Amino acid sequence: MSLAIVHSRAQVGVEAPAVTVEAHLANGLPSLALVGLPETAVKESKDRVRSAILNCAFDFPPRRITLNLAPADLPKDGGRFDLAIALGILAASGQVPAAALEQIECLGELALSGAVRPVQGVLPAALAARAAGRTLVVPRANAEEASLASGLQVIAVEHLLELAAHLNGQTPIAPYQAQGLLRRSQPYPDLAEVQGQTAAKRALLVAAAGSHNLLFSGPPGTGKTLLASRLPGLLPPLDEQEALEVAAIHSVASHTPLDAWPQRPFRNPHHSASGPALVGGGSRPQPGEITLAHQGVLFLDELPEFDRKVLEVLREPLESGQIVIARARDKVRFPARFQLVAAMNPCPCGFLGDPSGRCRCTPEQIQRYRGKLSGPLLDRIDLHVTVARETTALHVPLGDGADSASSAALVARARQRQIQRQGVANAFLDLAGLRQHCALPSADQDWLESACERLALSLRAAHRILKVARTLADLEQAELIARSHLAEALQYRGHPQS
Ligand SMILES: [Zn+2]
Repeated sequence: MSLAIVHSRAQVGVEAPAVTVEAHLANGLPSLALVGLPETAVKESKDRVRSAILNCAFDFPPRRITLNLAPADLPKDGGRFDLAIALGILAASGQVPAAALEQIECLGELALSGAVRPVQGVLPAALAARAAGRTLVVPRANAEEASLASGLQVIAVEHLLELAAHLNGQTPIAPYQAQGLLRRSQPYPDLAEVQGQTAAKRALLVAAAGSHNLLFSGPPGTGKTLLASRLPGLLPPLDEQEALEVAAIHSVASHTPLDAWPQRPFRNPHHSASGPALVGGGSRPQPGEITLAHQGVLFLDELPEFDRKVLEVLREPLESGQIVIARARDKVRFPARFQLVAAMNPCPCGFLGDPSGRCRCTPEQIQRYRGKLSGPLLDRIDLHVTVARETTALHVPLGDGADSASSAALVARARQRQIQRQGVANAFLDLAGLRQHCALPSADQDWLESACERLALSLRAAHRILKVARTLADLEQAELIARSHLAEALQYRGHPQS
């Protein structure tokens, strides 16, 4: 056999498309050619593979070796193909049985000694290998991550010699048994630890129940960050599919991705973060904060301080749950279904309306500050809530009954009603859904219309009020939206300009 095929996987966004490594030995002057438009890193792997094969006392065939990584147009960077390339050469030269390679896929970088080093983005490859029905060979350091794809057979190796002995049937390696090391979910921070702020906690509950985006407006030091960080703990636990999506993103983004598995993410990027850091990008596109917040919460503190262009980009993922990053030749898609919690000060100094009278901001300055936020972005935020400074902590009862566990139970019940009724959370209702599921008795319809007229609210704002009212009714297990729900929803109508 002078031709061998080894299966491996590339990494594009959070996907792991199949790559086959074909190794062919021909007569002629000894040489080693890599084709399939590989990038520099793959060329470097030729040297690593040659050294690893020689240092393991295998025969490096003194023939004309051609290696083809197919398909040609996938990015193939990093050392992840070293192991597949080495196996291809060994199989093509009869040093491991080629038939043993048919049902496996392999990933791993080789050290010059033949030791197998960990690579990034193993989980997406593991999920894809499971779907393809093959066994996955991974570096031992990546085995626990690969084993998150339950049902996948994982062979963990530390050295090329070990793998060759396994494939030759000399020393079979037992499939890796998951250690459960990554399943060490920490508790979310509890709502009960936030003192006072009853109205803001109520808004968090409503946001969680209907998947509504939320904007807190209030002076510094009122606990907006503290409140926002409690939202993940109010949301239903991730199901396995969602947890794997989250873990796959973190697998692609860093080497130690899974210390909070399987938790909903809470991301809190600073307003000075660059566009690519927030939405993703780069020549080899990496996920940004909005993707790292997938299935969790993206908290943008001091919202008006963010680059306006970046904020405009958020509109796409807020609608579609994904972000498409266009590159010169192709596009990379990253998931980005996050719940947005934003916070802003009422004015540039933050103390507008504060009893201390510290605010000296002029109306023009305040207008300019608020004007940094575009109507279309604010339109995607259903709940606008003012957070006031608590007069003094001494007067605030610690336990007002709102802890995360009891709130999460209410949220779960309300969400279940929405899914059974319409298949989506209330925040995602379209016009037809609004008509069907948020119909009002004519007296209430008139009442809402006159309220909107009085407050100069747009039709879109009225729709927002209806969706929130639907969530308030669902929290009470009510079939129909009542006047009280409308009245409370109207309180969340937010800024005059929206
Ligand atoms: Zn001010």
